[in-house]
Formats: sequence, C-alpha cells, structure tokens
Amino acid sequence: MSTHDDRFHDECGVCAVIGHPDAANLVYLGLYALQHRGQESAGLAVAQGGELRHFKGMGHVFDVFDRERLEQLPGTVAVGHVRYSTAGSSTLVNAQPVVATTHRGRLALAHNGNLVNALRLRRRLEGEGAIFQSTSDSEVFLHLLARSRAATLEEALLESLEAAIGAYSLAVICDERLFAARDPHGFRPLSLARLDGAWVVASETCAFDLLGATFVREVAPGEVVELGGTSPRVLRAGSPGPWAHCVFEHVYFSRPDSRVFGEDVSTVRAAFGRRLAIEQPAEADVVVPVPDSGVPAALGYAGQSGLPFDFGLVRNHYVGRTFIEPRQAIRHFGVKVKLNPARAVVEGRRVVLVDDSIVRGTTSRKIVAMLRAAGAREVHLRISSPPTTGPCFYGIDTPERGELIAANQRLEEIRAFTGADSLGYLSEAGMLSCLAMPGENFCTACFSGRYRVLDEGKSTVDS
Ligand code: AMP
Repeated sequence: MSTHDDRFHDECGVCAVIGHPDAANLVYLGLYALQHRGQESAGLAVAQGGELRHFKGMGHVFDVFDRERLEQLPGTVAVGHVRYSTAGSSTLVNAQPVVATTHRGRLALAHNGNLVNALRLRRRLEGEGAIFQSTSDSEVFLHLLARSRAATLEEALLESLEAAIGAYSLAVICDERLFAARDPHGFRPLSLARLDGAWVVASETCAFDLLGATFVREVAPGEVVELGGTSPRVLRAGSPGPWAHCVFEHVYFSRPDSRVFGEDVSTVRAAFGRRLAIEQPAEADVVVPVPDSGVPAALGYAGQSGLPFDFGLVRNHYVGRTFIEPRQAIRHFGVKVKLNPARAVVEGRRVVLVDDSIVRGTTSRKIVAMLRAAGAREVHLRISSPPTTGPCFYGIDTPERGELIAANQRLEEIRAFTGADSLGYLSEAGMLSCLAMPGENFCTACFSGRYRVLDEGKSTVDS
C-alpha cells in the first residue's frame, strides 16, 4: 500500500450556514453536536462585506470559542470544522477551515475525508511553485482552486474536485457564496437542512436537531451544489452507484441520533445487535453494553435473545484529556477513570458484553478484567461488526495493520488476549444484511480488505 499517505488520517466534522444574520453562532452550535467527529481542533470562518474572518484553536469547541470570539465573527455565511488526527500532524496549522486569499476571492474550506492521491497532487503542485502552509491534504483543494485557469469560480471548483481521488465531503465559502460537495463514492456523509430562510450543511443530522433546522436531503454522492437560493443550485449532478458509503459510520463513528446514508444510525445499530444475537448466541444472564458506543447494539442483542439488558458499566462523561495520573500505578487506570462496573448488575452473573468493534484489543482486555474483578462469573464478548483487519484510507483513524489485533491473530488468540470466556463477531454478510441499501453501496475495506478506490483512481481489490 505504498501509494498511500499513511500519515494523515483525519476524522472530521463539517458544518456551514448561509443566509442567517448569526451564521457563526449557528455553526458553533453545529460543531458542538459534531464534537464526537473530532476533538483535537475546531475552527470557524465567516465572510462579510469582502472580508473573511476566521478563528481556529486546539481543543474542544468549548475550549476554542466563547461569546467574545463569536462576536468577532459577524456575517451571514460561515463554515466550521472539528478535527481529530493522529500524532505527527496535530498542530494548529492543520486545523480547519483552511483559508486563503486568491484571485478567485477569499476562500475558506472545511473537509471531511482523506484523498488517496493527496501526496501526489501536493508534489505536483509544489513542483509548480505552490507553497503549502500545512501537512493536511485538504489544503490541496485550495491550491488546485487558486491555480485553475478555468473562466469561472464554478468551473474552477469542479476542475479541482475532478483532480481529487478518494473521500471528500466539503463545505466551501468563496466570498459570500457557499458550496457543498461530496465525492462520487459518497464515502462520508453530508446533509442539507433549512432554518427559516437559511441553509445549513452538516456532516450529520444531529447538528440540525440542535439548531432547530429541518433536514431537506443529503448531498448526493458526486454532487456539487451552491446554496443560498430557494433550492440548491446543482453544479455537478450526483453519480450513479454503486457507492462506497463508509459502513463504519453506522458501526461506530456517527452519533446514533443521526441519519446517515438514508438510515437512522440507532436503528441500524440495533439491527446489528439483533443479527449478532442470531449469529453469536450466548448462554448468559444479562446483556451489558460498553457505553456509549455499544448501547444500541446491546439493546438489539437483548431484544433478540430475550436476555435482560442492564448497564453493568457506568461511564464518567467528565473525563478530560489532562487528568492528573496517580503517582503510583493503579491497575487499568486509563480505562477505570472512564468506566466502572456496577457490581450489583454483574456479580455472580454470566455477562454478554457488547461493543461495536475491537481495534487493538486493549480496551476489551481491560474491561473484561474489570468485570471479572467485580464478580462476573463469565464474560462472553460480542462485537457488532466483523474483525477490523485493515486501515482506513478514507477518513477514519484506524491504526496500521501491525496494530490491529484481528489482522494478526486468529479468533481464539484474540479471545485469549481479551480474557473473555467466548468471543463472537458479526459477519460481514450479516452486517450488510441489516442495511436498507444493497451491500455493494458500502465500503467495508477495514473489515474486508476491499479498497474500492486507490491512488491513480483505480478501483482495486486488495487481497
Ligand atoms: P481497542 O482497545 O484499540 O480495541 O479499542 C476499541 C474501542 O475503541 C472500541 O470500544 C471502539 O468503540 C473504539 N473505537 C473503534 N474505532 C475507533 C476510532 N476510529 N477512533 C476512536 N475509537 C474507536
């Protein structure tokens, strides 16, 4: 997989508003709802009267913005971004939106996804004299836009998108205009909503709920629209399928109260859980989720199996990144500070422990040990997705293959590592059978190794 730029795997959320007197405030709230998509940095850009003001900072949305900051961002058009990236590129210069003044106007761009040809494009652009400010592949779009010789902004935007291969869900401000675009495969979600006369764009519909905006539709895979009028102005029509919607959005990444790829995430997760109960039954007394991500699937599992559901693990929601660790080592401190078993629920019982995925396996191992220490008689680990065997090149932060336990160990070895009495994963076919759209419309690369889009634009199967 040497053609891939492995360094920059962004997980991101985008939100934009046009046609509202308090656009920055709305986008700020939208980012709040999208915080789960990235906690490392947050940023906002606002266009007004030929000026583009922006502010970005490291940390959560509430760390970066306060009322005073927002008041310094007046305007009716705004775009915002939350970002998480792996170490190495976690600096403020990589925070988004990326902004630039070009002969096309003042641009601000927020991107969710990863381009598989970012490095190649970047090298070409640098060879032509482009000077990059950041190491994020999103900046490539700005250079492509700025350097395009196309007659109009619309043509330049389409031309720059044509050069990009991979995953992109974008919101772009140019002067006081707002565009939204999605790659032809539709890897990452992007939706549109209305709020009075204004338009809202967001990665997930949970942002609309917070704003009181009404969901209109998704930006179709491949579609490019300009927002502002009574209906979206289509610059590029949607692409025919099959698409490559990221199935991991349904497994873990999106919020369960969002609607992505045409389906409610919580409904899909519960269906994963029901299917898991059919495929991987367990002789047990109680179904316990790993909160929060395992909850909907555990509810499904309990409903299907007839076993009672209970919160045998309680999550502390107030854990920041910078808690002071105890001087003396406490066993499993990292997980304990976040999760604690409810002894009364698990003591003396056979527990079905449901989580959405196993990545390195270290979390499951610690949780199983915690449950046993709290008196659980047996722990049957059930995972509501298939074994994670491959990294993602399309915008989910998954470690390299070497760190993925399921890429290197057999089922029995993974079970032994986690310390569970039994281990069962949902099958790929079972997972896909829970979705309304045919399976061919989903990217399952992290589970199946079938990378549908690689550099040079070839659709390839990686074996
Ligand atoms: P691990 O200890 O590496 O096996 O972590 C597994 C846990 O991480 C599961 O509880 C998942 O809910 C969660 N998880 C899975 N994928 C990701 C991701 N891309 N980013 C953050 N957490 C994740």
